[in-house]
Amino acid sequence: MAEETERLFPADWQDAARYASPYSFMRLPLSRDLDRADVVVVGVPFDLGVNMRPGARFGPRGIRNGSFQVRAYPMQAEDLWGPFRTLRVVDYGDLDLVNAYIDTAVQQIEEAITPIFLGGVVPIVLGGDHTITLPVLRACAKRHGMVSLVHFDAHPDYWPPPSAERPYHHGTVFHIAAQEGLIDLEHSVQVGIRGSISAMVVHDARRAGFDLITADEFFELGVRETLARIRARARGPVYVSLDIDSADPAYAPGTGTPEVAGLSSRELVQLVRGLAGMEIVGCDVVEVSPPWDSSEITCLLAANLVYEFLNVLAATREGQR
Ligand code: MN
Ligand code: MN
Repeated sequence: MAEETERLFPADWQDAARYASPYSFMRLPLSRDLDRADVVVVGVPFDLGVNMRPGARFGPRGIRNGSFQVRAYPMQAEDLWGPFRTLRVVDYGDLDLVNAYIDTAVQQIEEAITPIFLGGVVPIVLGGDHTITLPVLRACAKRHGMVSLVHFDAHPDYWPPPSAERPYHHGTVFHIAAQEGLIDLEHSVQVGIRGSISAMVVHDARRAGFDLITADEFFELGVRETLARIRARARGPVYVSLDIDSADPAYAPGTGTPEVAGLSSRELVQLVRGLAGMEIVGCDVVEVSPPWDSSEITCLLAANLVYEFLNVLAATREGQR
């Protein structure tokens, strides 16, 4: 719990326009002082791992733009400031990366994120394509060891790498993470899988241990049952990875590999809210591609989901006290 004098609040919307400076998530303080933060929002503007439409390199900027619409006061909270009453949250800025060399970037992301985990701080990572989650998980393991993964996505991202020399793209992330012992598949869940993908990869993910809930199964189960499945499954430290293409393209057109018949904004918000109380040690919102967005609806959804993550982290912290 932050001391009174240490609290870091976003600028109030009645004191200054929400779309005015500074350029930060919800106009939170820009800072890299890990001693004065419980949670950092950090951008990873990298998308060299996509196989389809590019543009997720602009995701962090787009999500921060979308965050101008987000007020600090959740309806379910009893007082003003919601999560910022409990947590010291700063915007860590974006990592310095060049979108030209994927192996170098994967290494740089791991190096840059490691101090956040080692400092006992929870990162909320703004992608970037889904490739970035692999180095984040490598950094995570240095503090938390093997974690349970809660993964929202239209795709399992569990394809075996095409070759040992070229392992990285946004579809091999969790295959590599499992091989490296970064995630415990027996306590991991995937939600929202669908589209024109091979049944083989779904079969492989399930056989490896994932509880994989397809989008069709989600619509049969509903939010409550799905959350029960997630809670029954995840153990110990949990990492949550949210690919925005888990949402239907009607709600999130601004992404690289859209798949129809997906989740609604409301369902995703409810699913994230339902994670309160879990020991979440890190999370991300990835694959937001502003150039493909319409009326900023994808960025707005992504920004709200980041805010919901803040509420979840705050609720968990409150529950521990
Ligand atoms: Mn993905
Ligand atoms: Mn996806």
